[in-house]
Amino acid sequence: MIPCAHEGRDQKDCETMRTPLIAGNWKMNKTLADAREFTTDLLARIEGVSGVDVLLCTPFTLLFPMAKAVADSPLMLGAQNAHEEPHGAYTGETSVSMVKDTGCSHVIVGHSERRKFFNEDATTLARKVRAVVNAGMTAIYCVGETLEDRETGRTSVVIDRQMNEVINRDVDFTSIVIAYEPVWAIGTGKTATPDEAATVHAQIRNLLGATYSTEASKTVRILYGGSVNPGNAGDLFRDPNIDGGLVGGACLEVESFSAIIKAAATVGALCD
Ligand code: PEP
Repeated sequence: MIPCAHEGRDQKDCETMRTPLIAGNWKMNKTLADAREFTTDLLARIEGVSGVDVLLCTPFTLLFPMAKAVADSPLMLGAQNAHEEPHGAYTGETSVSMVKDTGCSHVIVGHSERRKFFNEDATTLARKVRAVVNAGMTAIYCVGETLEDRETGRTSVVIDRQMNEVINRDVDFTSIVIAYEPVWAIGTGKTATPDEAATVHAQIRNLLGATYSTEASKTVRILYGGSVNPGNAGDLFRDPNIDGGLVGGACLEVESFSAIIKAAATVGALCD
């Protein structure tokens, strides 16, 4: 092992390192005025920060104006959901082509809140992932175990199942990001330890290699989500299989979100 500046990594890890992605999931937060102020402030704070991709997943109502606000900036725009059907009588829903029209490049699919509050099942989620990817956008597919799953030793079974039910060989893996989000860590202030997260991330990467392709296992970004904050981000992102974060609560304030972005850039820069 040829060591590099990363604790616990070797040079091979650095050679295969993927650009980290920090995605903020605004959930049902922010008006247009809040969003504009946030974006201006964020861009000022991360000016000159490189080696990290940054994505804002905003409510649907903000997508069109936010596309203008992030134009000519390094920020990317994403939606938090999209309907699996191309059009039709689905009151209150938004199709992937409508989302794409706004200028979105990414769509979150299968967030645990969608699974829990909107009963989204594996069949629906598989269709959503396919629809997003076929529309030429990137699907951020979320997986994660409940507290009960973890306490009964079922974490790896649940993750394998959630992956295999939805991700299939026909998917273009360059258009997929996986987010490992333990349900017990979302919005609770409890975070998986770097070791707990690293174990699941390695499992997902091995599954991609064994079931789909070596290429997929090397290129797909796997994000960690679940109470990421400026205090724990650096430790989590140091693992070679953790390619950034899907951030909820801490993405709503510019100070904490920009600090998380900088933590990802700092870890990446150790390879240079
Ligand atoms: C999320 O909603 O995807 C999330 C990870 O939230 P939080 O960071 O608040 O736990």
